[in-house]
Amino acid sequence: MPSPVERIKEKMDVAELVGSYIKLEKAGVNFKAVCPFHSERTPSFYVSPARQMWHCFGCNAGGDIFRFVMNIEGVEFPEALRILAEKTGVELERQDPKLRSERTRLLDLLETAASFYEKNLYERKDVGAYLKERGMTGQTAKSFRLGYAPDSWDATISHLKQAGFKQDEIEKAGLAIAAAGDQQPATGRFYDRFRARVMFPLFDGAGRIVGFSGRIFEKDLRPGGADIEPAKYINTPQTTLYDKSRVLYGFDRAKSEIRKKNAAIILEGQMDLIMSHQAGVVNAVAVSGTALTMQHLISIKRLCDTLIMSFDMDNAGFEATKKSLDLALTCGFDVKIVLIPEVKDPADLIKENPESWPVVLEKAEPIVAFLLKTLASKHKDVLAFKKEAGRSVLPYISAMPSEIDKAHWVGEVASALKMREENVWQELKRIKAKPDSKDAAYEIRPQTRSRKSLLEERLIGLAAWRRNDLSTVFGDCRADWFSPERRHIFESSAQGSAAEDHYVKKLALEAEVIYSLEDNLSDQFKNLAKELQKEHLKNRLIKLGESVRELEDSGGKEELEKKFNEFKAVSAELNSL
Ligand SMILES: [Zn+2]
Repeated sequence: MPSPVERIKEKMDVAELVGSYIKLEKAGVNFKAVCPFHSERTPSFYVSPARQMWHCFGCNAGGDIFRFVMNIEGVEFPEALRILAEKTGVELERQDPKLRSERTRLLDLLETAASFYEKNLYERKDVGAYLKERGMTGQTAKSFRLGYAPDSWDATISHLKQAGFKQDEIEKAGLAIAAAGDQQPATGRFYDRFRARVMFPLFDGAGRIVGFSGRIFEKDLRPGGADIEPAKYINTPQTTLYDKSRVLYGFDRAKSEIRKKNAAIILEGQMDLIMSHQAGVVNAVAVSGTALTMQHLISIKRLCDTLIMSFDMDNAGFEATKKSLDLALTCGFDVKIVLIPEVKDPADLIKENPESWPVVLEKAEPIVAFLLKTLASKHKDVLAFKKEAGRSVLPYISAMPSEIDKAHWVGEVASALKMREENVWQELKRIKAKPDSKDAAYEIRPQTRSRKSLLEERLIGLAAWRRNDLSTVFGDCRADWFSPERRHIFESSAQGSAAEDHYVKKLALEAEVIYSLEDNLSDQFKNLAKELQKEHLKNRLIKLGESVRELEDSGGKEELEKKFNEFKAVSAELNSL
């Protein structure tokens, strides 16, 4: 019987899987896309259905469907296996619970906690009434799995312990806090992090609970009983499962709609997000307790080109939003700004009039147009308007990666400020290009392939891609011209026995991408082989030259003459090519 891995591979096509995460574009027999694993503008990420593999020629990431899930979900192989088994309906054998990874244990633990909170919410009619008062239907609360953490120091911990979880696991999942010094509560060393709070489970991209956000419902209890005003929202701290700079609230539900609409709406908190979904606007995500990060934006950029954000025009709000805007523009997003009427938050707006929400979003304007209009209405003095527009609008144009976009907006600014376009261009030049804000982790590592390695890889790629068509010219390329580590790979590719190796598949895909429009592949192959032969002979000359010099010093006359003749022969061979 085939293994689960084999059965999953049979059922899941690589293009279908990758296409469910990112937008794929047809490129001949393959698909291409902007790489989800490094920041780039032009696609170097390819998917080959024939080879059931993917590869990025920019950052060199690549592999099969399992490797893709591991990379994009940020999980280890067992977890990727589980995700793909679920997607394909392939059943995995039940594992001994003791052998399950810590990660899986923690996911189970959070799931158990979520059910516990859900049950508590069901029992607390007053909490339900509060959610209803905020405009949320029971169905929505159920769908987002809202819950309630009881007003207790240890209700959650006890429940989880009863369910078989250990103290340190509860702490690792972020649900228990170790009491410090004099704050020791009666219950011992640990107490519940979330107490008397409405609980919002936070999901990862695959829809699994990785943390919680809790909104205060009653006066919180504090260690030591201090009467400090409790925080309105508290979140799970950084854990092995939860990283607030990566997780976007609602992303798991919004993914396909974001791809379809080619736009993502960024909201501020859980309530706004839930209400937006309830009003039928599903391509929305929210950040939890943090500003937008590069990682958030890269996750979204895999799916769409347009970002719709709300903008707070008071000065503090402006500065806070500015950073996110800069990042978004650096990532190459078209940023649109939506104005929420009468300083309401989206949740309140939707509660009062759900139909108005899509209408408000429809009016979103490109960032530069929005700023120009807002500033014009704010500053009646022409000079002040010009100055302010220069200060706050031009940097956004300057940050745009596309020259076409820049030219368009320079034109718009010129006409709004009644200036000549050249003058706007001049102003734009004066704005120093800001240091690249790209996260260092996403920089492409330069690939240092020597010319000889490059030729060898091209030849292996061609041989593996078109073995049958090229077999007649394989004789023009000798295996001993290859460096030792690739000699065997070339031979087995020419024989068709290396087809399953990812390195060979990648080279075959690369050859397919580069040479698909070439009609005389045999000539291409012969030329590359000739170049490789030259490189091989050059290397031999260098080595022979070294031996000759050594022998001249040591004085082995017979040997010296032999090497010297060899040197002359190789030199003549090289010249004849
Ligand atoms: Zn890449």
